[in-house]
Amino acid sequence: MKVLVINCGSSSLKYQVLDMNGEKLMAKGLVERIGIDGSVITHTKVITGEKWKNETPMETHKEAIAQVLSAIVDPDHGVIDDMSEIGAVGHRVAHGGEKYKHSLVITPKVLEGIEELSALAPLHNPPAVLGIRACQELMPDTPMVAVFDTAYHQTMPPESYIYALPYEYYTKYHVRRYGFHGTSHKYVAHRAAEILGLKEEDLKIITCHLGNGASVTAIKNGRVIDTSMGFTPLEGLVMGTRCGDIDPSIMTYIADREHLSSAEINEIMNKKSGVLGISGISSDFRDLEEAAKDGNERAQLAMRIFAHRVRFFIGAYIAEMNGVDVIVFTAGVGENDFGMRDIICDNLDNLGIHLDLIRNNVRGKEALISADDSKVKVLLIPTNEELMIARDTVWRVSVELGK
Ligand code: AMP
Repeated sequence: MKVLVINCGSSSLKYQVLDMNGEKLMAKGLVERIGIDGSVITHTKVITGEKWKNETPMETHKEAIAQVLSAIVDPDHGVIDDMSEIGAVGHRVAHGGEKYKHSLVITPKVLEGIEELSALAPLHNPPAVLGIRACQELMPDTPMVAVFDTAYHQTMPPESYIYALPYEYYTKYHVRRYGFHGTSHKYVAHRAAEILGLKEEDLKIITCHLGNGASVTAIKNGRVIDTSMGFTPLEGLVMGTRCGDIDPSIMTYIADREHLSSAEINEIMNKKSGVLGISGISSDFRDLEEAAKDGNERAQLAMRIFAHRVRFFIGAYIAEMNGVDVIVFTAGVGENDFGMRDIICDNLDNLGIHLDLIRNNVRGKEALISADDSKVKVLLIPTNEELMIARDTVWRVSVELGK
């Protein structure tokens, strides 16, 4: 089956076409500036490496998806002859709440449920709904599957997900920890077991998704038992521009002094904090490394704080699982920044974690980076959320529709 994977943002959209017979990537692309002047689609035909770009007005997500569909059937840069070759569409949906514990074929009821969850993910679920509706209108006979970023974490026990707030905020407003990046954590955990030739059910795995957004997850015997992100993707680690865990009273203290609204406070915590806020330079670790090399002390401090927080969660999860067999690094920083991986894993010999510095000198490809005498295996695994979405899409279409 060929699957179209769609990941819709408010003004951008990423897509891939995969042939699931052999799990081959056929095409991928990006639409930017939807509803803004200068809308543009960038499309790559993977087999030939040919790139095609088209700047054309796209006022709505429906117009953007129409451009995607015409790009993939185009006689020159397209990868299929006819849209009927697409057996299903997999949509990335940020928030599935407590309702959706795994991916599902999108029925009118499921779509209504995703819309209802927009209150919990106001920036992310509404564009996903727009993308789903647009695809349904343009491909009315093709099954659609929703793959939720929160679903993988739904196995967490209540002691991991209930906040120490008045309990009625959980029952009334669904305030609890959900966790995010689930598709990525799931992909790399599965892949880690595969690479090691072991069963996930027999392993204690800690997956570190370290990108612009970052989270760490503890997976024991194939089930997530804890993850660092919470009610929103703001909790947990220090990130590119997000503060992660802080004393909650700091923000009311600052709001009182700087006369800030709750929206402004949210903006500061999400967009102006993290390693950007500490360094005052950039949210990008490549810029921080440059500055750190030139002796910039705040850039050096930002990187040390980032590493400190990742180590903090690794230690906590080792305690929660009573050990760890495998640690996986993934996403932009985790896959590329061997210096950061080195700082994170430095001096953990007592916990059985010992990197091999030569093996660790690798970027963007699967590798075992722990030393032979390391009790814990440390792996670098590039994430592949689109492949995971496509796999789930095939699975649900087969289970629910028998196709
Ligand atoms: P992601 O959110 O997974 O796309 O990760 C994006 C982040 O990865 C960027 O903001 C950088 O901080 C980081 N990154 C990407 N490439 C490198 C690299 N070669 N070295 C260090 N950090 C990198």
